Amino acid sequence: MTMPATITGLRIVVRGAVQGVGFRPFVYRLAHTLALAGWVANDSDGVTIEIEGDAAQVAAFVQHLRTTPPPRAQIDQIETFAHPPHGYTHFQIRPSQARSSPTTLIPPDTATCPDCLADLLDPDNRRYGYAFTNCTNCGPRFSIIAALPYDRPNTTMRGFQLCPTCEAEYRNPADRRFHAQPNACPVCGPHLALYPSPTDDPISAAATALQQGQIVALKGVGGYQLLVDARHTEAVARLRLRKARPDKPFALMARDLEQAAALVQIDPQAAALLTSAEAPIVLLPRHLPPRIAIADQVAPGHPHLGVMLPYSPLHHLLLRRLDFPLVATSGNLSDEPICIHEDEAHQRLARIADVFLDHNRPIERHVDDSVVQVVAGIPRMLRRARGYAPLPVPLPTAPPSTLALGSHLKNTIALSLGQQVFISQHIGDLSTLEARSACERVIHDFLRLYDAHPALIAHDLHPNYASTQMTHILPALPHRAVQHHHAHFAACLAEYGSHGPALGVIWDGTGYGVDGTIWGGEFLLGHPHASQRVAYIRPFHLPGGEAAVREPARVALALLWEVFGSAWEEMQDLLPFSSTQANLFIRMIQQGLNSPRTSSAGRLFDGVAALLGLHPQVSFEGQAAIALEYLADPTEQRVYPYTLEETTAPIQTAACVTCPPNPIILDWHPTLIALIHDLRRGVPRPQIAARFHNTLIKAICALAHRIGVQEVALSGGCFQNRYLTEGLITQLQAAHYRPLLPRLLPVNDGGMSYGQIAAMLPATN
Ligand code: ZN
Ligand code: ZN
Ligand code: FE
Repeated sequence: MTMPATITGLRIVVRGAVQGVGFRPFVYRLAHTLALAGWVANDSDGVTIEIEGDAAQVAAFVQHLRTTPPPRAQIDQIETFAHPPHGYTHFQIRPSQARSSPTTLIPPDTATCPDCLADLLDPDNRRYGYAFTNCTNCGPRFSIIAALPYDRPNTTMRGFQLCPTCEAEYRNPADRRFHAQPNACPVCGPHLALYPSPTDDPISAAATALQQGQIVALKGVGGYQLLVDARHTEAVARLRLRKARPDKPFALMARDLEQAAALVQIDPQAAALLTSAEAPIVLLPRHLPPRIAIADQVAPGHPHLGVMLPYSPLHHLLLRRLDFPLVATSGNLSDEPICIHEDEAHQRLARIADVFLDHNRPIERHVDDSVVQVVAGIPRMLRRARGYAPLPVPLPTAPPSTLALGSHLKNTIALSLGQQVFISQHIGDLSTLEARSACERVIHDFLRLYDAHPALIAHDLHPNYASTQMTHILPALPHRAVQHHHAHFAACLAEYGSHGPALGVIWDGTGYGVDGTIWGGEFLLGHPHASQRVAYIRPFHLPGGEAAVREPARVALALLWEVFGSAWEEMQDLLPFSSTQANLFIRMIQQGLNSPRTSSAGRLFDGVAALLGLHPQVSFEGQAAIALEYLADPTEQRVYPYTLEETTAPIQTAACVTCPPNPIILDWHPTLIALIHDLRRGVPRPQIAARFHNTLIKAICALAHRIGVQEVALSGGCFQNRYLTEGLITQLQAAHYRPLLPRLLPVNDGGMSYGQIAAMLPATN
């Protein structure tokens, strides 16, 4: 290359999700097109480029970098530094450089791209039918990365030596597989195996097993999945029994969009979500009547189904051998973490699965399927894992470097590095030993991957949460407890970049309050760093504590007793209890025996659902409340009475903003009296359920008027309820409030770890 007089040199540092997304080949091709010399390399900070040549061409290079990066890249920052030309004669891709403090974004696992799917299905292609086909635009990432920088020796592909053909692709900058770290082919890459009866054609054997109604455990991308014919009533029932999961809905995997469209109603937004690179489970309304008769047991009583499409070559190959959709649920027992190792799966899933479709590409860490639902027109995360984790969610400013331990249920952990918060994949309910060790593993994993040395641990205020007890991992660090509902509130504000002041309507099942009682129907006023409890739902008793969560009929009894006192007996016919049983619970309440007071909105929904005869007992939290939502008639407009009354009790938590002198009680007593009256008059239950929802929507709006700040943050598990949430958002917007509902992180406790870090943000003036 001849050196023109206008030659300039530039060093460019690109930060963001720029590794494993075809960024270096893109840079290489761009440099060649513009006749520029220099080099590009991955390092722990992202990608570094040195470029030199004609000044105008160098400027064009930077412009292209900014405006037309590869589709999967997420650029956070491009820094340029002038440097004297070295006299490079060509452009090359240099080996990666390891450095301290990796701030690189680890890319998430990505669904098979259309080009790879075409390779997979082309009989003339050397990857025809090969289950581990991928390229720089798709394939496993987070689930196979053991360390940074993202290079093959740092992935679980380190044990597979590239064959000459794959090696040539890997080294050819013009190839789609240039530097695709998991690149593989049938000659050199991982292989499938059937267990316990080996065969030459594991996919066919698994397909046959599914056709025969057997349960297949498939080693997927981020762990094992349990699969069964979704139409097969007896097989689905068998899976429920063996997995000890009596009622909680199962997700489905459909062969393609067309088959999915026979199961659920798919609008363009849903189609885009289903076919996205993240390929989550999407909750969508069923067709009524159904176009494919799936077993009732798949999602008993639910008007929605969770549907996903094949997201790995193995899924595509298997589903193409079947003419029916599959139940595809996590390969675990009940709430334990999903299995990722063959041996572990063969042992732990031995009583569940009939056949195992295994492979020898190791999974570095578990990553569940993500779940998304559209609320108020926008996709919102319900469970954040594959496809999304561990991409960070930013904060409006930087807190101290913090490790957050999350909640007890739907646990995630999080780590802040500067303004970025790296939130772990969904870990789950920490009630089992397995889940607690999974949580510990993820904490160690994150600290190591990001080479993080946090200054602080943030955890829930509840002293007995298993997550709180994880503080033992870094015993020397200072701890800061964050009240559960404040963490929900802070998470919502931080996601929207808001410093407040805002009103937080934080409604969920359970959270430990600063007064030691169980909170859950809270109105908080303040900022990410601090808030005050300005109002709450009138408390009631939970006879038997946790037992009342499993038995909403107990809550119903407690609500009746709260309102009617001894006259509750006139309503005993609404409850499934004998007089002896009911009186036992009343005595427990009266004598204060294991009957904590709670302001929980979730439990209020449960109790009302039980009064309407829905689920006197439940097998998962929220089951009764969900049934009440589904029962509600959306055409019903009426509301019940309620009151908002000021108490004389002092406001709890640190003062920070102007607020009413005393907290307000949202009193549902008049609501319950009217609701019982309707029940007695024989008003149809769908109307009663709707009126109850409408009442709460109206009460929240009235409370917002009393407080009078424009931003209203909605969070907590209750806002997974679409009837409540969409009704509330519509009414708040009509009254010119600005409702904020989380979308990048779940409103449920999956967003808690991020919120605990958001609570560490400094106060702003
Ligand atoms: Zn691909
Ligand atoms: Zn090969
Ligand atoms: Fe919560």
